[in-house]
Amino acid sequence: MCGIVGYIGDKDAREVLVEGLKRLEYRGYDSAGVALLANNRIDVLKTPGKVTKLEEMVSGVQQAKIGIGHTRWATHGEPTTVNAHPHMDCTGNIAIIHNGIIENHSALKTKLTSLGHTFRSQTDTEALVHLIEEFYSRTNNLEMAVRFALKDVDGTFGLVVMAASEPDILVAARRGSPLVIGLGESENLIASDASALIRHTRNVIYLHDNEIAVITRNDVALKNLDDETIEREAEHLTFDLEQIEKGGFDHFMLKEINEQPETIRNAFRGRLIEETGISNMGGLHEVDDKITNAKRFVILACGTSWHAALVGKYILEQYAKIPVEVDYASEFRYRNPVLMEGDVVWAISQSGETLDTLAALREARKSGVPVYGIVNVVGSTIARETDAGVYIHAGPEIGVASTKAFTSQLAVLNLINLLVARKRKTISEEQGREIVAEMRKLPGKIQQILDNTGVIESIAEEFKDSRNFLYLGRGVNFPVALEGALKLKEISYIHAEGYPAAEMKHGPIALIDDNMPAVFIALGDSTYDKILSNIQEVRARKGNVIVIANEPDSRLKELARHIIQIPKTIDILSPILSVIPLQLLSYYIAVKRGCNVDQPRNLAKSVTVE
Ligand code: GLU
Repeated sequence: MCGIVGYIGDKDAREVLVEGLKRLEYRGYDSAGVALLANNRIDVLKTPGKVTKLEEMVSGVQQAKIGIGHTRWATHGEPTTVNAHPHMDCTGNIAIIHNGIIENHSALKTKLTSLGHTFRSQTDTEALVHLIEEFYSRTNNLEMAVRFALKDVDGTFGLVVMAASEPDILVAARRGSPLVIGLGESENLIASDASALIRHTRNVIYLHDNEIAVITRNDVALKNLDDETIEREAEHLTFDLEQIEKGGFDHFMLKEINEQPETIRNAFRGRLIEETGISNMGGLHEVDDKITNAKRFVILACGTSWHAALVGKYILEQYAKIPVEVDYASEFRYRNPVLMEGDVVWAISQSGETLDTLAALREARKSGVPVYGIVNVVGSTIARETDAGVYIHAGPEIGVASTKAFTSQLAVLNLINLLVARKRKTISEEQGREIVAEMRKLPGKIQQILDNTGVIESIAEEFKDSRNFLYLGRGVNFPVALEGALKLKEISYIHAEGYPAAEMKHGPIALIDDNMPAVFIALGDSTYDKILSNIQEVRARKGNVIVIANEPDSRLKELARHIIQIPKTIDILSPILSVIPLQLLSYYIAVKRGCNVDQPRNLAKSVTVE
């Protein structure tokens, strides 16, 4: 998820690595480290916090011409010095840096521990280095050891390895996490994105999934996992630094919207059990009973996370048959809330530092009820101050308006629902299996939406000068209407309101005239006919109707000015799809209005004030 740099050549590797890591800082990270190889010895330096801190430490160690460096965005284990990368094998011979998630790390750790390996960190990554060490002890060849080890690994990785006993090569491999090799004069580099390389070279080779690269000072060899050689021409990069950082997208927000097939996959990774139709989240193992036997859930959150919580209420009440109360964290704190035995409190926050949410969970704690977290940033304050929890694994979110974190929160709430509903037997094993199967299809369906943005762009063009928008949905898609309206307000500064579609006639309908765009979420679910009536009410007052629909029938086609079609899924998962066109609509409107999409006025990414 974060930053990788590797270097081999004639320059001072300390400088090249630190400078490369600085170039990768924009991605967000929590700790940094380097491993430097010289005189048949590897020195490792690492620290939580900023690369500048690492820079000070690095000047004190031996010069080296080969080394690897990493900025970590923790997924497994808090951001501490031991958990920072590089990680070493037992003998101090092999060093590794890794981006991604190793799904079967627990099983690997058990096996490797029984073979005598000693683990020092809480990371998933460390299993990799011991596994490579195990194969190295049999092959005495780093490249072979990496290749054999990767056959036993489930999950995603972009990794670079070096060994003191083979001081002239770097071995890299990729599955799911990007790596790019920079070709220089008597030097070669590797990094997680080209921004860390372009000071040295613009000639690059992208590594593809399931490929290994063996990199020496004067040569780069690519192979697949079956040891077959791969030929690939180098490309010359013409992008500027800013374009590279945004992965070719114009803004971080658009990049993050487009990451959602992958982030949803990551939220589910290793957590779905097909055979028994249930979910499995390591962070909740110890509190399984408390959750299953809870009398009520109280979910505390702010902003976009609060909308996710509202979706959670619909899902959990419908399937797990557990009463759910959702509260604005800021309100909860000050209204003398009544918490009782049997209550379980959940706090949702992307950053894990949202002050209102933190203060609310501290308030809840005073009543002695268990408090659990749904958080993106590992080791954040909320993650530390809750008794248990689930990480959403969305990776760093840079755009201030949350997009991928929202859908990952929904994914995790669905995992929790699946767990609780199956344990409470409010759904059958068969139903559980159907839900799991639908969950697996979500990334592909998100991609379908992302591949067809033409209609959304043209709607944005038509309505970019509107002064007000209404967003309307029912059931599980009512909170999505709220989220759509919030996205538009946040980045385009257009006033927008979200309502349950049927509520419109109790007030907001007075606003409707031929200038007013109304965005309806009208999926082919049980609320469809009711929503059609609400759409008719808007049309009767000449409002402009934009509809997010699955398979529009003739009635809808007649009423709607624009229809944005999205793939069908089961109702409880539908918000993960229906929100994406709304994210894109606000994005394109904001761009067309010339707004600063990634840093909208008056907003901060992590709200650490009351
Ligand atoms: N899963 C690894 C860890 O938590 C890698 C994190 C990253 O991609 O930065 O250490």
